Amino acid sequence: HREPVTVLGLGLMGRALAAAFLEAGHPTTVWNRTPDKATDLVAGGAVLAPSAADAIRAASLVVVCLSDTAAVRDALAPHRADLAGRTLVNLTSGTSDEARELATWSDDHLDGAIMAIPESIGRPEAFLLFSGSRAAFDRHRDSLGRLGNATFFGEDPGLASLYDVALLGVMWGTLNAFLHGAALLGAAKVDATAFAPFANQWIGSVTGFVDAYAAQIDRGDYQAEDAALETHLATMKYLVRESAAAGVDTDWPARLQALTERAIDAGHAGASYASLVEVFRGRA
Ligand code: NDP
Repeated sequence: HREPVTVLGLGLMGRALAAAFLEAGHPTTVWNRTPDKATDLVAGGAVLAPSAADAIRAASLVVVCLSDTAAVRDALAPHRADLAGRTLVNLTSGTSDEARELATWSDDHLDGAIMAIPESIGRPEAFLLFSGSRAAFDRHRDSLGRLGNATFFGEDPGLASLYDVALLGVMWGTLNAFLHGAALLGAAKVDATAFAPFANQWIGSVTGFVDAYAAQIDRGDYQAEDAALETHLATMKYLVRESAAAGVDTDWPARLQALTERAIDAGHAGASYASLVEVFRGRA
């Protein structure tokens, strides 16, 4: 016996969320501004509500996943009274401030972030981040767990959104570095598919650096146990020079070099790479 759920928003992600609930046996009510996106879900057993208000009233767990916070305000502002006594789980991407604002809209609010693409929703590799009402998380943990691995970060509703952008930054930084490398090796006629396994092996090594540097950041002690920042800077200049020589855009490596030089100017030449966090903190 599964608890009834409502999913508001049937874009690429909302459809995947509703499908995962359905597959796990939850009575699932759906609503979308453009109702024909519900066709497949209805064929799979979902109930299409004629209005957002009807959808909200159909379940005590209401998940919303629209394009942005403005869309959530548009869709839900007229129905705030219907949200009373229900748990609203906002899985729409937004800032931490927007999450805190929406947290005042229902008695038991959870804000969440989805670290997955639609096709992995419901699979073990999907993970979702939640913050807000602990009572709501505990009460609906099993249902939310159908979407992927669910982690709760505490009562500040903005934290899940902050983790979200920080993690996306890790993704973009890593992908940009890979794409830059693919362009550089591509100029030497090396296929990206030949580069990829080495990039992946090295990303695996880097995960070890992350653990070591996290401990240094928390201690505020940047002892160079592996390589000093000035050693990094020397090799970073080769990345800039090789890029220029190959006709590859130098913006990305030049920015890495500029950040590193600022840390060195602030006195971290002999410190570990983790000391660059002082630049990001605005202290260097
Ligand atoms: P889509 O563009 O596919 O869907 C957007 C949804 O928002 C549609 O249901 C659309 O309705 C609805 N919408 C937009 N404006 C309004 C409005 N003013 N009133 C009512 N409904 C509105 O986006 P996704 O499903 O891909 O993404 C949804 C959220 O999930 C985003 O915040 C995104 O960042 C997040 N997300 C997406 C991931 C992905 O891989 N796709 C991964 C992680 C997070 P209509 O159909 O009528 O246009």
